[in-house]
Amino acid sequence: MTCPAPARNPRYDVLFEPVKIGPVTARNRFYAVPHAAGMTNSMPHMRAAFRETKAEGGWGVVCSGYVSIDPSSDDTPLPCATLWDDEDIRSHALMTEAVHKHGALAGVELWHGGGSVMNRTSRVAPLSPSGTSWMATHVNFMGNQRPRSMEPQDIRQVLDWQAQAARRAQRAGFDIVYVYAGMGYLPYEFLLPDWNRRTDAYGGSVENRVRFVRQLLEVTHEAVAGKCAVALRISLEELRARPSAVAPSEAHEVVGLLAQLPDLWDVKLDSSPTDCSPSRFSAEGSHEPVIEFVKKLTTRPVVGVGRFTSPDAMVGQIRRGVLDLIGGARPSIADPFLPRKIDQGREQDIRECIGCNICISSWHDSVPVRCTQNPTIGEEWRRGWHPERIAPAASDGSILIIGAGPAGLECALSLGRRGYAVTVAEAAEDIGGRLRFETRLPGLAGWGRVLDWRRGQLEQLPNVTLYRGNRLAAEDILELGNTHVVIATGSRWARLLYSPLELPVGGLEGVNVYTPDDVAAGAAIEGPVVIYDFDNYYMGSVLAEHLAKSGQHVSYVTPAGHASAWAVMTNEQPQIHRALFTAGIAVHTLSRVANFESEELTLVNQFTTAERRLPCRSLLIVGARTANDSLHGALCARPDDLRRAGIISVTRIGDAAAPGAIVHAVYSGHRYARELDADRANLTCRRDAPLATMADRP
Ligand code: ADP
Ligand code: SF4
Repeated sequence: MTCPAPARNPRYDVLFEPVKIGPVTARNRFYAVPHAAGMTNSMPHMRAAFRETKAEGGWGVVCSGYVSIDPSSDDTPLPCATLWDDEDIRSHALMTEAVHKHGALAGVELWHGGGSVMNRTSRVAPLSPSGTSWMATHVNFMGNQRPRSMEPQDIRQVLDWQAQAARRAQRAGFDIVYVYAGMGYLPYEFLLPDWNRRTDAYGGSVENRVRFVRQLLEVTHEAVAGKCAVALRISLEELRARPSAVAPSEAHEVVGLLAQLPDLWDVKLDSSPTDCSPSRFSAEGSHEPVIEFVKKLTTRPVVGVGRFTSPDAMVGQIRRGVLDLIGGARPSIADPFLPRKIDQGREQDIRECIGCNICISSWHDSVPVRCTQNPTIGEEWRRGWHPERIAPAASDGSILIIGAGPAGLECALSLGRRGYAVTVAEAAEDIGGRLRFETRLPGLAGWGRVLDWRRGQLEQLPNVTLYRGNRLAAEDILELGNTHVVIATGSRWARLLYSPLELPVGGLEGVNVYTPDDVAAGAAIEGPVVIYDFDNYYMGSVLAEHLAKSGQHVSYVTPAGHASAWAVMTNEQPQIHRALFTAGIAVHTLSRVANFESEELTLVNQFTTAERRLPCRSLLIVGARTANDSLHGALCARPDDLRRAGIISVTRIGDAAAPGAIVHAVYSGHRYARELDADRANLTCRRDAPLATMADRP
């Protein structure tokens, strides 16, 4: 007897109602909002396949990332796409065709960056309403090119660029064309007096400041002539905080003035750290207090985001009249098949976004999007990876995986799905590896989804067996005699210090010198504690918070210029500094630890010889990590024994190969599983290239 396929829970039917957006209709309420994914016109096939997967996964609308309308809006090397002339059309048409194949609508976020871009490649002076520039403290956004004030003819020119780009967008096959008035970009700059100090018809009163956005909407409508819907994407956080004489806030005034002009309102917050806040600092649905009023002022549909992964939370947004369409950027990356899984009554299979913002770091790095939860993202075209499909086993080999951290679990799951017989041995009493400890740290509970999802999926695979409390040595592995051995034994934190050449050096042993592994093992750490962080990601600051919460006096020292310096890439740095300050943790930047004795720590400035002393009973070094690869070494030193045991390969994955973030471990485990027994010739990573538009030019 076969089990009937699970059916959709009627509670979620509302999510599958079609929604009319101006002249077009979305098949359901799942809306993959515009978000940069690092694949610009230079990677058109990768971009099309990446967005196609979302359409295949059931999203009713799938949008592009930001698409510049003119060379005066050039964010390079950050990955913006272009619709600068007709030659750009074909590149986008690849995506719209791919999205349409699955019955979804395609949206395009036309964009002018105004005074927030540097035009590094085009070398055009940036434009802004009053010559005001964004004086960013974030090095990615810093530059020396300041904008010039826009003349009336500049305004007419931008309106014309928008209209031309809208016409090209329609020819490229887009169904929804955006005016983008958010995140510090040009139309937003007109809305806010901090940017807009004009004394003409575009400055002063709200009605005047809104004029440019109104005109952009009008020219876009005119350009697409009723064939596409026109969406307005707008940031409302700052406007909502500004009092108004005639409405509850300037945001209400702006929305009231434009209420019926767009076919769709796409509402969001103003800066990346609040708009795409990490789960360490914000819960699901965190936008609601800012945007909840919009639907009361317009009859047009409203879409918004909030890292929604729970169908109940989504239904709540609709039922309570907050949103009409459930926007997803990160949830659509972590699980492109989220809508389909809800539709099929498989909510428990949703690979929920953990809110780590590694995807956003890919944008800062100007590379194709990466995701901690979904290792296939960005690899759909170049490696042929699909989030829900994987090739069947190509041999009857059995695989022994040592270690059940993120790498081992992902590897076991993907091999299991291929049909291999998989055994996982984990030394600890529970699976999870580093997550066993890390998810207990302040703000990181949500990362447990990496473990929970894999645990749930593995339970459905009878061909994967997990042994807990099983620490294996080389001899045990030889006795078990599997065909392939995968070493996923993780890494450990080192007690190394840091040199002026920015290298891990030396080492500091001693009873009061600790690493995060000691904290994980439950070491009783006495204050005052100094955390010395040159790992630069989350661990140093999160442990500082953790120890401060347990009542210790904590100081934080780093040779970098900020606490958790790399966390600027994941939008976390502002909140991290706020959290450290709130917890009373003193932050000492640009400082190296030179000596630790007699309950005193000597710091030296990273660039001078100036010294400073801090009282310190315990030093916690969060610096370099070393791979736990001794098992790998021990096995590889015995080739004859391996042969006798029938073991064909021994491979390190995850941190045991190269210590990294969880995203690297998951990717490494997944890649091993994809490539096992594959024909080497088929393992090429295809190289994408821009569509040849200039080929026949001199
Ligand atoms: P990764 O991030 O690469 O998955 P983790 O450190 O999170 O690495 O996980 C490694 C896991 O391997 C840990 O749970 C650890 O207990 C386990 N482990 C390490 N050595 C052995 C061993 N010899 N036998 C079984 N399990 C091991
Ligand atoms: Fe979510 Fe992290 Fe994946 Fe981004 S990288 S989609 S935040 S799980």
